[in-house]
Amino acid sequence: MDPLKEYPTFVTHLECAYTGESYEADQVHGLSSAGKPIIVKYDLEAVKAAVSREEVESRRGGFWKYRELLPVRKSENIVRLGEELTPLIRLRKMAEGSGELLVKDEGRLPTGSFKARGLALAVAMAKELGLKRLAMPTNGNAGAAMAAYATRAGLETTIFCPDDTPEVNVSEIELQGATVYRVNGLINDCGKIVGDGKAETGWFDVSTLKEPYRIEGKKTMGLELAEQLGWELPDVIFYPTGGGTGLIGMWKAFAELEALGWIGSKRPKMVAVQSTGCAPIVKAFEEGEEHAPLWENAETVAAGIRVPIAVGDFMILRAVRESGGFAIAVDDGAIMKAQSIVAKGEGVLLCPEGAATYAAYRQSLADGRISASDRVVLYNCATGLKYPMPAVDRSLDRHQSIDYSNL
Ligand SMILES: *Cc1c(COP(=O)(O)O)cnc(C)c1O
Repeated sequence: MDPLKEYPTFVTHLECAYTGESYEADQVHGLSSAGKPIIVKYDLEAVKAAVSREEVESRRGGFWKYRELLPVRKSENIVRLGEELTPLIRLRKMAEGSGELLVKDEGRLPTGSFKARGLALAVAMAKELGLKRLAMPTNGNAGAAMAAYATRAGLETTIFCPDDTPEVNVSEIELQGATVYRVNGLINDCGKIVGDGKAETGWFDVSTLKEPYRIEGKKTMGLELAEQLGWELPDVIFYPTGGGTGLIGMWKAFAELEALGWIGSKRPKMVAVQSTGCAPIVKAFEEGEEHAPLWENAETVAAGIRVPIAVGDFMILRAVRESGGFAIAVDDGAIMKAQSIVAKGEGVLLCPEGAATYAAYRQSLADGRISASDRVVLYNCATGLKYPMPAVDRSLDRHQSIDYSNL
């Protein structure tokens, strides 16, 4: 597809995901008047008339190829860092029974995580709407993606992360042109600083689901997956769930694809994976609740899913329940073991959050919640290279004679 060509957008309006209250397109929006996320609505009949599945398949340019289902009006506002479709890697040895186990490896995206999808869209829309300064709380990857895209777009960025955020994330955020602060608290505490500072600084709050466009970017994971699987969705999707944008976004993508007639009514079971050290969604799911209250003393090695409270809680829970899926927690020990098993067994280095989905897959097979004949997709949301890895102390003195029979 020609990146310079103007594409029409099909956005009709926006809507509060909780109350359905309608909001105008082409305006700056944060949360709805009910304090809930606002989502983008499209004229899907018009999209259907404008573009076919086959045409979309023939395009290049990574997730931007789903342009008719994205909100950016002017191509000049699109910021690119080399987005590519991410591969689906088959884990043959790790799969159980006759089923198929696939990893969607999101670590190949710019800045090494799928946060690039959401932030590419949020930044493009911020540019389109004339915003100049953006702020965000992050556990690391979102901040890195925002820094990169915003800097490229010429926007100023201020970022707040918990003080124990992986060093690599803090450094990459700063190096990519943002101003980053370590805060002695968790991501929700950082979020409060962003919210409280809005009036005085004039910055725009790009927190997960507190503006309408990150989810539109994350939605492309669902569009891409459908296309890669020949427009036939898998039986189960395991998604490492923090704020839940990806899970909600994929659910939205599937509904839009069905309205276009590009897929049928079959849906995967959506499985929200969390760590036992921070499992608010799992708790609410098991208790039959619509909302998930703050999880106290959240702690896990999987930093990306250490989200004690999520503004889109009800959207995650709805998608999981409507899909016939479930929410499941795995402990940090199982996460680290899963990372090692998949890396040593298949040569695929998952991030801890991605490894959590493999641990959850094993646990769900064992407790019978999924079947060994299922086609399963695990989301590995960042490159494993961004995280601390076990030390290796094996060495060899080349000045001594080497006993090769012992190597
Ligand atoms: C942000 C993040 C998640 C959680 O994604 P959400 O869509 O916000 O739930 C999972 N894994 C990694 C590596 C992340 O950076």
